[in-house]
Amino acid sequence: MAGAKDHKTIAAIATPVGVGALAVVRMSGPDTKEVLARVFYPKGKRFPLPSHTLCYGTVKNGEDQIIDEVMCTMMYGPSSYTREDVAEVYCHGGSSTVMGVLTALYANGACPAEPGEFTKRAFLNGRIDLSQAEAVMELINAKTDLARRAVLRKLSGGLSRRIKEARDRILTWLAHIELSVDYPEHEEEAMNVAMMLQEGTVLLKELEALSATSRLGDRMKSGVPTVIVGKPNVGKSSLMNAILQEDRAIVTDIPGTTRDTLTESITVKNVPVLLTDTAGIREGIDKAEQMGVARSIERAQSAELVLHVIDRSVPLTDEDFAVAELLEGQKRIIVLNKCDLPSAEPQDFGKDPIVEISAKTGEGLEQLYCLVEKMFLDGAMSADGDIITQARHKFLLDEIIRHLKSALSDIQSSVPEDIVSIDLKSAYTLLGEMIGEAVGDDVLDRIFEEFCVGK
Ligand code: GDP
Repeated sequence: MAGAKDHKTIAAIATPVGVGALAVVRMSGPDTKEVLARVFYPKGKRFPLPSHTLCYGTVKNGEDQIIDEVMCTMMYGPSSYTREDVAEVYCHGGSSTVMGVLTALYANGACPAEPGEFTKRAFLNGRIDLSQAEAVMELINAKTDLARRAVLRKLSGGLSRRIKEARDRILTWLAHIELSVDYPEHEEEAMNVAMMLQEGTVLLKELEALSATSRLGDRMKSGVPTVIVGKPNVGKSSLMNAILQEDRAIVTDIPGTTRDTLTESITVKNVPVLLTDTAGIREGIDKAEQMGVARSIERAQSAELVLHVIDRSVPLTDEDFAVAELLEGQKRIIVLNKCDLPSAEPQDFGKDPIVEISAKTGEGLEQLYCLVEKMFLDGAMSADGDIITQARHKFLLDEIIRHLKSALSDIQSSVPEDIVSIDLKSAYTLLGEMIGEAVGDDVLDRIFEEFCVGK
């Protein structure tokens, strides 16, 4: 990893590619001020520009060729995003203007930034830790409010704090182990094994719960695979359309016309959903339809959530029961459609949640959405809890859990403490990796020293 100092001065466009009213060009590094002074001509102000202040002026290429009228801010380090000197130039959108400004900066001493380099510098310069740096990237990509809140929490250091707390706890145990191994005369001062086991079990549970949130994290990124199933003509395509609020699925009253599956990515309340409409599940009449039906069953069985649509205006048939049977044991919602029509005989649908809707009038859809959201969150987290959204974190957490489990089972079977400490040290180091802190025995030694002196 490159050192925090001796950097080049980098510049890049900070706003999306494309035409917009405004665009921002950002620059960071030791020569920011000088590079800016060569291209930016402020009106009514002189260099050095005041920090964190908008200045009006022009960007010129050489003495007289004006590229654009801009606003510009200088932010001197360390009070900046990267802790280096940073300049932001707010110019007019349109690729020729933005490229003109950027090219002028490049021609005058700045060089192109690598992807994520501003944030990388913020990390290298100690402004944010690694998980916060990752959160910045995720925030840019967050699609739902829920995802955004989870990432913001991470960005403000929520996850880092938990990881640091866990590390501190493990460090204390390690120190106690070393105390009792190296200074047996102090043994009675050291934490006893039963206590360590008790604390360790609590920590293990916490980390396991955190690791389990990764599933939710994945879903927040890619969407919950949700499948609409039911026998033909109950209103599956109509429901799909109603949810999508557009007519992409074919709606017809000839049974069996949705022959294949159709998948769309949407957001229901706060939940990103990958919604699939399937062919009506029944004995297919022709080959194409049979294939569609087989695919429906397959899709539904591998889905995370099933919306089983039933036409409540007609009595249930064997086909409805056949669908229910095929999807036994899956997380599902019974959607009683066509509630704008008179109801047939009421039926018992077991313990699955039920919602009455009309895909035609839109009645009940709101309740359906609430139910989808509730089932997704399912008490696994509060929207403000920490969520693991990075594969890297998930991998490290599972390794940490493995080491911690091994340490606890060794403690339980009275394995010598210095052996237990091997697993604990690994867990400690891996926790550090999560937040980007590489630590070695020297840190451990230092803390242990303080511990003894403090006694
Ligand atoms: P699918 O075969 O399950 O996909 O069913 P479709 O969505 O194609 O709908 C079959 C028929 O039921 C069409 O004539 C729809 O207009 C009608 N339909 C769907 N939903 C409703 C509803 O909520 N109320 C009423 N009255 N008719 C509906």
